[in-house]
This record gives sequence, C-alpha cells and structure tokens, in this order.
Amino acid sequence: MEQVRSYVCGEWFEGTGTPMDLLNPATEEVVAQLRPGGVDHGAALSFARTRGGPALRAMTFAQRAAMLKTLAAAMHARRDELLDIATLNGGNTRSDAKFDVDGAIATLTAYAELGLTLGDARWLLDGPVVALGRSSKVTAQHILTTRPGVAVHVNAFNFPAWGLAEKAAVALLAGVPVVARPAPATAWLASRVMELFVESGALPVGALSVAAGDPGDVLDHLGPHDVFAFTGSSATGLALRSLPKLLASGAHVNVEADSLNAAVLGPDVEPGDDTWTLMVSDVARDITQKAGQKCTAIRRVFVPATHADRFEEDLVDRLSVVRAGDPRVEGVTLGPVCTARQLAHVRDGIARLLASGLRCAHGGAGAVRGEGVDEGKGFFVAPTLLRGETSEAGAPVHAHEVFGPVATVLPYGTAAEAVDLVTRGGGGLVASVYSADKAFATEVVLGLAPFHGRVTAVHAKVAGAWIGPGAVLASLVHGGPGRAGGGEELGGLRGLGPYLQRTAVQGYGPLVEHITAAGARGG
Ligand code: NAP
Repeated sequence: MEQVRSYVCGEWFEGTGTPMDLLNPATEEVVAQLRPGGVDHGAALSFARTRGGPALRAMTFAQRAAMLKTLAAAMHARRDELLDIATLNGGNTRSDAKFDVDGAIATLTAYAELGLTLGDARWLLDGPVVALGRSSKVTAQHILTTRPGVAVHVNAFNFPAWGLAEKAAVALLAGVPVVARPAPATAWLASRVMELFVESGALPVGALSVAAGDPGDVLDHLGPHDVFAFTGSSATGLALRSLPKLLASGAHVNVEADSLNAAVLGPDVEPGDDTWTLMVSDVARDITQKAGQKCTAIRRVFVPATHADRFEEDLVDRLSVVRAGDPRVEGVTLGPVCTARQLAHVRDGIARLLASGLRCAHGGAGAVRGEGVDEGKGFFVAPTLLRGETSEAGAPVHAHEVFGPVATVLPYGTAAEAVDLVTRGGGGLVASVYSADKAFATEVVLGLAPFHGRVTAVHAKVAGAWIGPGAVLASLVHGGPGRAGGGEELGGLRGLGPYLQRTAVQGYGPLVEHITAAGARGG
C-alpha cells in the first residue's frame, strides 16, 4: 500500500496518527494511505525561514530560474506516472490529469523563463526614478526585495499538482521558502511531485516542504514577514482569514476562493454560428472537465431570451454523448468527483438549485452507474444542465457554488441586464462574453471588469488558438474580488508581489542610484 509521506525540516516521514484511506473515486478501492499528525509546524516554519530563506535569497533570479527549470524537467520525466496517480486517486480522465500535471509543468517553466530575463539580480526595481522637487539632487526609486519569511500554502483537493507547483514557482522565484499543505484526499500526487523535486537535487535544504497530514496549528506560527496563501472554498477562506492569531501575526494573506463564473452569449450570435458553437463547446467542456471541479468552470450561462431554448438543446446534445465511468475505460469522458463528501455536496447543490425554481434539462442528482464500475460504486454525477425560464429564476444560482459537473442556462434581455445578472455572483475569477458586436462586447466587458480577475472576449476567429476561459495561464492574473477571495496570483512578474516588500528608497540622487543599481527591471 502506498504511504503518502511528508517532507519537512529536510526529512521524509510518515505521520503518527490513525491512517486515513485515500480512495480511487471511481471504484472506492483504497489506493494509498496517509497518516496525519506528527508534524511540528512551528519547527517546520522556523526551519524554512532559517535554512531555506537565506539559501534562496543568496541565489540570483537566474539561479532560481534554473532551479524551477529542473523541477519542471523532473516532473516531465515522470509525467506518465504522475498522470496515472491523478487518475487513480483523483478520478481524472487522461485529459483531466494532463490539465493538472501539464499545467504544473507549464507554470514552472513559464516562471523559469521569466526568472531568466531578470538575470543576476536578486531584487527588482519598481517603476522609474522619481524626481522629488525641482532639482535632480533629490530622487526616489521604488524597489522590491524578498520578504525574509516563509510562505504557507494551503491548497484545494482538485489540483494537487498544479496547486503545489503554481504557488511554489512564484514564491521560490521571489526567494521565499514554502511550506505547502495539500488537501489530504488527493495528497498522493502532491507528495510524489515533492519526491521528484527532492530527487532532482535542485532545491536548497528548507526551500520547499510538503506537510501532507492535518494542518494542525500551522497558521499559529506565522509572523509579520510571512505569507499565507490559501486556495479553497469561500467558507474556509473566511474562517481561516478571520483567525485572531493570523490577524495578529501581520502575515500577508492571499485568498483564492470559489466563483460563480459566467458566460454571456451576445445578441448578434445566431444558432449554429461558429461563435455559438465555440460557446457551446466551452460550456460543455467546463461541465465535464475535471468533473466540473475547476474553480474557473462556467457555472452560469446567459443567453438572449429568444435563443435560450435552442442553446439548451445544443448543450443537451453535447452532454448526451458524455460517458461517465472509470477513466481507465476507453471512451470514458467524465470521471467521478473526488470524494464521497464532494458527491454529497454536489447532489445537495443540484437539489437546492432545483428547489429554487430551475428545471433539470439534463442529468440531475440521481445515482449514476459508471462504466467499468460495480453497481453502486464510485462518486459519479451525471453531467447536469439546469434551466431558468426567466432571468429571475433560481436566485441561489448566483450565491451557491455547486462544485461538480453542473451549469445553469438563464435568459437575459439587454447588455445592462446581462451585467447585472453576472455581477450578482458577488465577484468572480472569470467571466466571458461571446460576441462580434463591438459595442455590446465593450459594454459587457467593461461592466464586468471591476467584478472579476479576468474577462474573456471571445469570437469564432480565436478558434484553433482558444483553450477556453477555464485555463489559468502563468502570464495572466488569477484571482478575483469578493466571494472569489480578493486574492491575486500569477500574472507574470506581478505574481511575485506578495513575496516581495516594496520600499521607496529616497534621498540624494546619485546615492539612491548607486544603492539601487543592482536591481533588475522586471518590465
Ligand atoms: P476547502 O474545504 O475550503 O479546503 C481547502 C483547503 O483548506 C484544504 O486543504 C483543507 O484541508 C484546508 N483547511 C481546512 N481547514 C483548515 C484549517 N483550519 N487550517 C488549515 N487548512 C485548512 O476546499 P476544497 O473542498 O479542498 O476545494 C474546493 C473549493 O476550492 C471549491 O470551492 C473551489 O472553487 C475552490 N478552489 C478555488 C481555486 C482558486 O484558485 N480560486 C482553485 C481550486 C479550488 P482539509 O481537506 O483537510 O479540510
């Protein structure tokens, strides 16, 4: 039996508590075990600060970039094995597993390339020299230097590889050591990735730790120069960010939470148009990919009232050919949700939305027999499409995230109404507009922008180069205001922000210039 281990204080160990079974969510077979307990979180954070921090800060950006490149290569060399673990312990289809594992490799690689552009510097110049007063004698330069602390990363269960790698890539490039805590249900993949990282020999001792057991009192040990980055539900995010000890610590907090992502079809798009087909494909993909367990998945679909029935029909046609089952069975296109808890959550969520006046157009909360799986086994949910007959139907759809293969189609009238409906979601990660009508797209995109971290303006001409609104890219910011947590990650060098201290160095111009000369311009 595979034992999921933690790597803390430069050593591997198994926990000391009662073993927790990690399951194959398709068959409910036990595929690994994880023993919680036994981590001295205070010691783990202290080790990272005192051993990993100085080692990373002594490295240049180019050296840290080379480290990230080696980590990406270590994952790539064992890609097939990692994809298998994602299938076995995450219920991922092969393509879902690639989304997680390749996404992790791509993000490490992207930050390796960015780091190389910063060369031999160890810190960044932020903006131009600022002249203070009339003469050039007194100037200022903003600089960004590495925080002398540790970053604690708490990750959600749905992206065990990407979640670990995307957060670590940014922190490590900034020079901050990390203690990562993967969600236990899928921690096998995160722990295996960590084994590959350690075997690669690229990491200075203390630079990266994975504490795979219970979170214990990890947040109690944060201090003023530390960072806490959380990914998970709004409810857990709120509970953790409100902890008195965390508030008192002064640590920088970044929360990536859930989101009721939306897509809006423009009034100019006719049934069967290429843009129409692209949107149908994007919504169908987001319902099925990772069994809908994607924080950026489209949950709410807004269609002009005249076209809502046809759009529903086209989506139902797509969903009708989806095959739910054990992802190892040839032809299966929808895996199970990750855990029994998730299954209950998704069923409850569908029931709650249906009780609010929505109609079930396809799927629903009933039991599903997965292909290649014994009757009654596996955490399967049918790909589910719900429908509101009026724009006011189903108020909970704007407030309750159903984290599974579920989306809802609602009609709208004007551009202003579309903006109003989307923004009822309370702030989101991504919203999309599918239209070639420039006036409509401009009104809706600018109306939605203050409420979202990312807005996509989609037209059929992007087809072929389009990966859908759900893909999170290292070069673009990821995060969103309000219920999405208010955090921000990635976005190229912007992502280093939480790990760096911005300081205005102000004084005698030539002296300021001399002091700041060795910083890199990040562009
Ligand atoms: P969750 O229940 O909120 O848990 C998130 C993480 O927090 C898990 O690792 C959880 O561990 C941990 N946690 C819970 N209590 C803790 C405590 N007291 N101290 C430290 N850690 C603690 O979310 P989830 O079910 O894992 O993930 C699904 C949710 O994440 C969805 O709502 C999804 O939208 C969101 N998500 C957001 C993003 C984004 O980038 N915005 C990305 C992925 C997922 P346990 O499992 O042990 O409770």
